[in-house]
Amino acid sequence: GRRFPRPERTRIITVANQKGGVGKTTSTVNLAAGLAQSGLNVLVIDNDPQGNASTALGVDHRAGTPSVYDVLVNDTPMRDVVQRCPNVESLWCVPATIDLSGAEIELVSLVSRETRLRRALDTFLAEREAAGEERFDYVFVDCPPSLGLLTVNAFVTGREVLIPIQCEYYALEGLSQLLKSISMIQSHLNQELHLATILLTMYDGRTNLAQQVAAEVREHFPEQTLLTAIPRSVRVSEAPSYGQTVMTYDPNSTGALAYLEAAREIAERGTTATQEQRQDA
Ligand code: ADP
Ligand code: MG
Repeated sequence: GRRFPRPERTRIITVANQKGGVGKTTSTVNLAAGLAQSGLNVLVIDNDPQGNASTALGVDHRAGTPSVYDVLVNDTPMRDVVQRCPNVESLWCVPATIDLSGAEIELVSLVSRETRLRRALDTFLAEREAAGEERFDYVFVDCPPSLGLLTVNAFVTGREVLIPIQCEYYALEGLSQLLKSISMIQSHLNQELHLATILLTMYDGRTNLAQQVAAEVREHFPEQTLLTAIPRSVRVSEAPSYGQTVMTYDPNSTGALAYLEAAREIAERGTTATQEQRQDA
């Protein structure tokens, strides 16, 4: 297959939008699979009690399975809960189980409640490096549809935020609140956090509405919005019921090809930015 450039250091991408059903999980798993299929090592952290990313990646996440809940609440090392995804080489997942639905409340009374995921990931990455294991090129964190402590943990963990925007009515509603949240985290908990990428999802170019939404998003966020928009495609929505991403379920479908292209854009943009920074220095 095609090879994408390998980043200088692990890129940690938090996929967030407090609206449900905009394509967070679908984008997380398909971008992750696209990068993994292109020769990179990728970890997905499912940080949503729904566990939809775990389902799509085909990893065990029945109640009681060691999961991100144990990492967040019981200080279980990430190494002990991570699973290899059965359908894609070099793709790994920290699963979420229904146990996580209690975490939002349980976290409130724990020390360093905002930084638990970050610490666990940092430790895991450092242990892997010390053991001479291959570095993860990408880590994706899939968020629940809220701005609560689970999402705060994901924002503290990531450096880049990826916001999927569904090309629908009210697409931009709530976006200013999301951006405010990101800048608050940036000032208080994670200086490196920034809005890096916007991905237009469920795009139907035949409708004026979708075109208008896309144009408006590109006008507001010209740097961040990927050129590739993800089309609405039945194959994309069918894949999870087979425990798969669309990248393996139907690799030649319009949805899979679009996600691969979006993944390539992310991989190439990141590399360019790193090179420019190095030339400036
Ligand atoms: P979120 O994680 O933001 O709640 P999901 O990724 O779960 O959103 O997507 C919401 C629903 O839309 C799911 O049923 C998913 O299968 C479907 N969906 C997402 N992207 C597409 C697409 N490009 N084409 C068709 N259906 C899609
Ligand atoms: Mg989701």
